[in-house]
Amino acid sequence: MTSIMQRAIVVTFIVLSWMSQSAAQQKYDLLLKGGHVIDPKNKISAVRDVAIANGKVAAVAAKIDPSEAFKVVDVSGYYVTPGLVDIHVHVYAGTGERGSYAGDNSVYPDGFTFRAGVTTVADAGCAGWRNFEDFKERVIDRSKTRVLAFINIVGNGMRGGKFEQDLADMEARPTAEMALRHKDLIIGVKTAHYAGPEWTPVERAVEAGTLANIPVMVDFGINHAERPLSELVTRKLRPGDIYTHLYSGLRNEQVESGKVNPALWEGRKRGVIFDVGHGGGSFLWRIAVPAMKEGFVPDSISTDLHIGSMNAGMKDMLNVMDKFLAMGMSVDEVILRSTWNPAREIKREELGHLSQGAVADVAVLRLEKGAFGFVDMNGARLRGTQKLTCELTLREGKVVYDLNGITRPDWDKLPRDYKQTGDARWDAVTPARPNRNP
Ligand SMILES: [Zn+2]
Repeated sequence: MTSIMQRAIVVTFIVLSWMSQSAAQQKYDLLLKGGHVIDPKNKISAVRDVAIANGKVAAVAAKIDPSEAFKVVDVSGYYVTPGLVDIHVHVYAGTGERGSYAGDNSVYPDGFTFRAGVTTVADAGCAGWRNFEDFKERVIDRSKTRVLAFINIVGNGMRGGKFEQDLADMEARPTAEMALRHKDLIIGVKTAHYAGPEWTPVERAVEAGTLANIPVMVDFGINHAERPLSELVTRKLRPGDIYTHLYSGLRNEQVESGKVNPALWEGRKRGVIFDVGHGGGSFLWRIAVPAMKEGFVPDSISTDLHIGSMNAGMKDMLNVMDKFLAMGMSVDEVILRSTWNPAREIKREELGHLSQGAVADVAVLRLEKGAFGFVDMNGARLRGTQKLTCELTLREGKVVYDLNGITRPDWDKLPRDYKQTGDARWDAVTPARPNRNP
């Protein structure tokens, strides 16, 4: 070995050990400094620093010493919130089945979530017990987004009319068994799109939900005098069950006088949960605006993301949240309904907050002021003056989305031959990887 090589090895060793020492000196991997933290579970809405270590929230405090962190990011002027939780999406893509939510009508989650601050989604019933494990293998296990699921009471899931109208394929026991087999992923039972006059889909879903001890989410399908909304929310659903598409107006959510159907107030009193589920066909200003004025606010805000909604009035989770800002809801109330409330509804109380020890799923949001427009399912616009934009998203403490490079160094201050600039301690996008394939 030449002496030059020996010297190079010694120098490399010294540099590496210095790097690992200096890394070890800092107890936090990442520090978000100076942002306005909104953490409704912990009743925080104030300027706070957020320190992250090993993928968890390590500390939230008025001042955290930057020298204690390996990486410091200035987020002053932005809101820092728990990663958003969207409990109504359709993400069982990739089967190749046309006209099916267990196929082409669904989207892959990662392209829609992180850029809107969303870190957890719940698929709303694309798969039933017959195809849930295919969904898991195909999408859930391969996504960076945390994907949970309502299992459809229809064994074949949301594959279109001939499957979804088949009462014989709505079996409580195998549905509950599959839910219990995947307790970590299946957080509820869905019934949707039913066109007949029978109560069977709702009753079987509730039966499965009771067996598996999970809530039911209802898309109440075609309106029928034989099974009125009032009976659904005041008798059929249990406290904790979720009525989605609250502002669709398709099933007497609004009565003749323009008021909210009194049954919804009664259902709310009983503990039934009301969710937005905007989608391509489930949100109208003429329903939502009067309901909000009357005080019938949603418990949770959700998108109903799928190919029919993704480029329509509904844009993404932040767009649906913006619509509630435009109707006068405060930023704090909007964040509550997009984080802690939905996490509680699906009984995932470890999510949707920034408590010490919680998984560090975090959104950094900018509130823009200007002239904006927000469009409903029929193409009607409501003007607004505020809009949320996602600057930065962390999943398990690592950057997965950074719109304006607020975590990044300026290129002209780097060495001429600069390579990957991040570090795996805080960066999931461009961490330095010695053996990275070109
Ligand atoms: Zn849906």
